[in-house]
Amino acid sequence: MASRSIRGIRMTASPNRISGAGRVVERAGGSVTPPHYPLWPLANTGVVALGRPFPGLPSPPVRSSAERRELLKGVYEEARGCVRCPLHHTRTTVVFGNGNANADLMFIGEAPGANEDRMGLPFVGQAGKLLDKLLAEIGMERNDVFVANTLKCRPPDNRDPHPNEIEACQEYLRRQVDLIEPTVICTLGNFSTKLLRADSTGISRLHGRAEIRVIGPRAVRLYPLYHPAAALYTSSTLEALRMDFHRIPELLALGPPEQPRAFEEPIPELDELVVEIQGPAGAGEAEPAAQLGLF
Ligand code: URA
Repeated sequence: MASRSIRGIRMTASPNRISGAGRVVERAGGSVTPPHYPLWPLANTGVVALGRPFPGLPSPPVRSSAERRELLKGVYEEARGCVRCPLHHTRTTVVFGNGNANADLMFIGEAPGANEDRMGLPFVGQAGKLLDKLLAEIGMERNDVFVANTLKCRPPDNRDPHPNEIEACQEYLRRQVDLIEPTVICTLGNFSTKLLRADSTGISRLHGRAEIRVIGPRAVRLYPLYHPAAALYTSSTLEALRMDFHRIPELLALGPPEQPRAFEEPIPELDELVVEIQGPAGAGEAEPAAQLGLF
C-alpha cells in the first residue's frame, strides 16, 4: 500500500484510514513578509474571487510552524475588530476558524450559526458533530485539520451570505489559506465552493470531484463536498457526503500538486511593456482582470 510522509504525518493511501497521526516537522525558516496578491472580479456575481498570482510575483515564503501561527494570530487580531460589513452590528463574536495552523487539510464552510456566534468557534453545532464523526471515520480529528468559514460573522437568522459580505470578508480567508498552505481544501457547500472556484457551478454537480486550483500563490487540491448541515436531514446527501469524505485520505496521500510555473517566468522587459501599451488601436483594451494584474 502506498505511503508517504506529509509534514511529519505518515499517510497511507487506504480508502478509509490515515495511519499514524504524529505531528509536526518544522520547516526551514525564511521571510515572513506576506506578499500581496490581486483580487480578481468574479463574473456575474458582484463578488470578488480569491486572487491568482501572475508572472513576476515572488514565490511564497517558507515559514516555520511558529511563524505560521504568529502570522495567523495577527490576522485573527485584525478580524476581531472588523467593521468591513454590516454583520459587525449583529455578531456576538468573530468566528475566525480553528484547528492546526500547520494542517494539510482545510475545511471551509459557509458562515457561523447561533452556537458558533456564541462560542467563537466554527462548526460546534449539529453540523459540526457530523463533521467530527466523518473525520473520525477517516482516522482524523479536529486537531489534524483547520476549519474556517467563508464569512467570519453570523448572518442574522442564519440567512444566506450576501455578496457584499463575501467580498468584505474574503481577504481574511485568502490570508488564512496563504498562511496555512493546505494541500487539500474541502469546500463545504455552495458558498465556499463558488468563491474558491470563482464560478457559479453548484455543489450538486461538483461534489466529490477533486481538481487542482491556484489559490493565491499556490496550487491546491480543491475538493468540494456537500455541507454537513445539508446532510443532516437528507439521507441521500449524507450517503454522498460520506462516500466523498472517505476519499480524502487518498487525496492527502498524493501530496501537494505541482506548483504554478508563473513564479519562474521573468518580469517582462520594460521595452516589451512599451510595445504592448503602444500597440495597434484596440490592442490596448486589456481584460479587466489583466489590468488589475498590472498594479
Ligand atoms: N455551518 C457553517 O457553515 N459553519 C459553521 O461554522 C457552522 C455551521
